[in-house]
Amino acid sequence: MALGCDVRLPRSSSHATDSMETISDIKTMQDRCLQARAAGQTIAFVPTMGFLHDGHLSLLQEGRKRADLLVLSIFVNPTQFAPGEDLDCYPRDFERDEALARKAGVDLIFYPTAEMIYPSGYATYVAVEGPLTTTLEGACRATHFRGVTTVVAKLFLIVQPHLALFGRKDFQQLAVISRMTTDLNLPVKIIGMPIVREADGLAMSSRNVYLSPKERQQALSLVASLRQARSVVRAGETEAKTVLASIRQRLVQESELVIDYVKACHAQTLDEVSTVDAETVILLAVRVGKTRLIDNQLLAEEVN
Ligand code: AMP
Repeated sequence: MALGCDVRLPRSSSHATDSMETISDIKTMQDRCLQARAAGQTIAFVPTMGFLHDGHLSLLQEGRKRADLLVLSIFVNPTQFAPGEDLDCYPRDFERDEALARKAGVDLIFYPTAEMIYPSGYATYVAVEGPLTTTLEGACRATHFRGVTTVVAKLFLIVQPHLALFGRKDFQQLAVISRMTTDLNLPVKIIGMPIVREADGLAMSSRNVYLSPKERQQALSLVASLRQARSVVRAGETEAKTVLASIRQRLVQESELVIDYVKACHAQTLDEVSTVDAETVILLAVRVGKTRLIDNQLLAEEVN
């Protein structure tokens, strides 16, 4: 998130046309999806906050391969932002998103307003309890996951997807949504997808537009530190303490970065571990100027 609102817009590069539809009304969307299911179509769903980049497009590409109907939602969800976070200045460009979605083969875009999702009198929330939502991002952003699970549960009930795709860029979010889906017996298959990075390694994020050129350069130390940690583990180190110290040491080389957390956790439970192995994920959150960035690395996976 960023407290400032300086947005550096990327250039748009898409202009395909086809029968893609944009629907804002909830009932219309729900009926359209129920009709598709009744006609035997499978539905793949990619929920996003828009301002699409190649990370989002990788989810759409996979969804396109796996289902008959590909649904994208674009909704900057107010309940997952705390007061003082970047809700008001979160980057938005619906026309550009529409063009990219069309090119990616999206059939339906669900594009509701906040008043439609949370009308006056709204009072129902879905929350995953316990350490999965109180550690890491949950420790820094107390109400964030409650907002995420509430909106994703609502979107699942509106879109009725057979499968939904989420990026491992938001590793904890994927774990929380998987937990909610299992716990509520929701008939949706959750698919986690690899992190898509810029050519120089920075994990793609809609929030990267907040970064000044200097901050953009400093932000490269996130991926550099994760790559270094992998080398340390490959060289035989198994003590989490030592691996995490090497990451911190790399991050503090950029004097203006503020570390929120750097942790080694079990990839399924997100419990902290003292010894790293193939089931470990290293997660970090760092503030670069006013922008807060997250990244992670599964130790079993090649750094991409
Ligand atoms: P957002 O619009 O940031 O809420 O993200 C929507 C979805 O895209 C979430 O499932 C994210 O994890 C996923 N996503 C965002 N950035 C990336 C990335 N760099 N690589 C892969 N997936 C991503």
